[in-house]
Amino acid sequence: MNILVTGGAGYIGSITCVQLIAAGHRPIILDSLVNAKAEVVNRIEQVSGQRPVFVQADVRDRARLVQTLREHAVDAVIHFAGLKAVGESVAQPWRYYDNNVQGSLVLIDAMREVGIQTLVFSSSATVYAETLDQPLHEGSVISSNSPYGRTKLMAEQIFSDVVAAEPTWSITALRYFNPVGAHPSACLGEDPQGVPNNLMPFIAQVAVGRRSALHIFGNDYPTPDGTGVRDYIHVMDLADGHLAALRYAHGRPGHHVFNLGSGRGLSVLELLSAFGRACGKSLPYEFSPRRPGDLAAFWANPSLAEELLNWRVQRSLDDMCADSWRWQSQNPNGYESS
Ligand code: NAD
Ligand code: UDP
Repeated sequence: MNILVTGGAGYIGSITCVQLIAAGHRPIILDSLVNAKAEVVNRIEQVSGQRPVFVQADVRDRARLVQTLREHAVDAVIHFAGLKAVGESVAQPWRYYDNNVQGSLVLIDAMREVGIQTLVFSSSATVYAETLDQPLHEGSVISSNSPYGRTKLMAEQIFSDVVAAEPTWSITALRYFNPVGAHPSACLGEDPQGVPNNLMPFIAQVAVGRRSALHIFGNDYPTPDGTGVRDYIHVMDLADGHLAALRYAHGRPGHHVFNLGSGRGLSVLELLSAFGRACGKSLPYEFSPRRPGDLAAFWANPSLAEELLNWRVQRSLDDMCADSWRWQSQNPNGYESS
């Protein structure tokens, strides 16, 4: 299939493009490069042996979208394009609603004009309300406490309403848990700008000497070791989840929602110690106060995806850390160093 990948130069999108190519599909990347580097396209070619079409454009540019969908005879769309920093979304909510919600509306509008009705959307576990009822399943209560999370909830609701109005659409929302790791080739990985907000890239920068120590946000949570618990998923498994979702959804109308997670909760200290094993040294850390807005623990019940998509995670915690370390140590300054 010809697949338009919005945000395909980003962390998850680029690795998904490699997996799409390996499965015989033809990705067409549309990315504004607001949070990515053009070098990524070279890296995708290096890893997969095939250079994807790259269109530098904003997903809110309706005319470019329509033109791209037509010109490349697109069969289905995977919609990664979005801003994703929770703290920034609190400071600049208008940017997040415009980019993430308006972007999704323009995409639907352009797809309607061209007559394409299959869409896979990057949603997030952040759409779930805080609850002690773990693991989270697709029927768990939803509600979000950040503008970023609300953009994902709104987009899911818009897509659900589109399917209700025009039942021939097939729209799949994938609720990712915590993506980590890199492509095992070390050519593609996460390249955050500035101080990383997320745990794994921060640890990787400590390991490579760019930061002096990990600040662990809270050691008094009601978890086995007092630190926060999350469901980490290897980005390669996540990429494969998109292929499974496409296989399932293409030609199957409806609004589908799946958790993509491992089903296992891991603490900050467990992840830090696994990363230490991968890089062969113990990593410095200090305990800091809790980060405002953080939840103690959540993890996925991934059984719906196992049952219907025939997908489950294949890679271990040690794989996540080894691949992340290989990426970080071979690209200490991310794509800048190339
Ligand atoms: P990323 O920032 O690396 O990738 C997003 C890509 O979208 C970037 O390349 C960026 O340049 C592009 N983009 C943003 N706005 C755009 C626009 N208006 N038009 C065109 N391109 C645009 O992020 P990622 O980690 O790869 O995340 C991909 C998607 O998955 C995002 O929608 C994100 O919200 C969602 N998600 C990510 C995580 C995570 O922890 N990484 C977790 C849950 C959900
Ligand atoms: N965390 C931490 N130090 C950091 C970044 C994150 O202790 O520098 C903790 C955070 O409090 C949470 C876990 O690591 O318990 C995962 O945080 P991340 O931001 O990666 O994911 P999210 O909280 O969005 O699930």
